[in-house]
Amino acid sequence: MTVTHSRAQRAAAEIYKILANGPDYERVPPLPETYWNACQRLLRMQEKARQRGWGAARNRVERRLLQVVADCSSHLHTLQEKLIETIRQRRLLNEQAIADDLRALSAEFDRVRIDLKHRSIAVETEPIVLQDIEFGRFRVVLNWISIPLYRAYRVIALAPHPASSKPDVTHPHVQEEALCEGDGQQAIRDALHQGRILDFFQLVRQILENYNPHNPYVRLEDWEACECHDCSDLIRDEGNRFRCASCEEDLCDACTIYCHDCGECFCADHSTRCPCCNKTYCCDCLAVCQQCHGKFCKECLDEQTCPQCRRATDEAEDAVDDFPAYDADGVETEELQTAHAAAAV
Ligand SMILES: [Zn+2]
Ligand SMILES: [Zn+2]
Ligand SMILES: [Zn+2]
Ligand SMILES: [Zn+2]
Ligand SMILES: [Zn+2]
Repeated sequence: MTVTHSRAQRAAAEIYKILANGPDYERVPPLPETYWNACQRLLRMQEKARQRGWGAARNRVERRLLQVVADCSSHLHTLQEKLIETIRQRRLLNEQAIADDLRALSAEFDRVRIDLKHRSIAVETEPIVLQDIEFGRFRVVLNWISIPLYRAYRVIALAPHPASSKPDVTHPHVQEEALCEGDGQQAIRDALHQGRILDFFQLVRQILENYNPHNPYVRLEDWEACECHDCSDLIRDEGNRFRCASCEEDLCDACTIYCHDCGECFCADHSTRCPCCNKTYCCDCLAVCQQCHGKFCKECLDEQTCPQCRRATDEAEDAVDDFPAYDADGVETEELQTAHAAAAV
């Protein structure tokens, strides 16, 4: 798709205007005179303390002086950065050169679209393949209004093949449509701020076409590996990959919990231990003790009662047997009444 002359011209006029007035063209900050004066005053105080032998005062003044010197040099450093930036931006292309750059895009990229309404320029890459993994074509969309701000462009996968463990990573260096520029950061920034739009798109394409093993969002070797839901480790080997029968999340070998009743595998959220025998079970395979309402495995429950509750009942019943049933008047003894009450609980 060729970029028409008038479209390129109109876009270039806008881009030039934005870059020439961008916030980075602000005035250079003033010299840190206040800090400088404070340094001089503290130096005089330090000299006075030295002459009179005031050890403690001298220590205090020197510590304060150190702090003010640090503040002063940090201001000078900012000033230096600002000057570097300003000198760099003086190299801003003129309107005509930006327009020429925009027209040259069609010779370099397959599909180029300049959208005057949305103030964006989009190009498409060839299909990207890195170490035999296919990532498809990418569309790079630059919003020229955002160039002076952060994140002026997006990198959109047109036939996404995201990493198994991170669906928003569509390329080792692209996450949530944002490119990790790595070492190319300054070059990209300079190209954008100087209006070298063709260079900008070429730099982005270059990063997309190359794999930097030092700082990928997901390594190429791990592209198909999925993440364990419980420990977040990557599961690289299919043989070590399990799935919770309840929530269907992926689990590594170490995090998979086996239910001793139904025999299925579960995650930590959907499994538990029987408090009596301590074996692992899924939440559905445990049953409730009718007396204490605790959850136990079916093997540990007898007539819907857990061993502890069963023991308590037995002891209470034994206690009833141990007491004399009735006193001389034929009335239930007090001990017997208490024992009955305990057995009834
Ligand atoms: Zn795990
Ligand atoms: Zn689960
Ligand atoms: Zn189970
Ligand atoms: Zn049990
Ligand atoms: Zn119980």
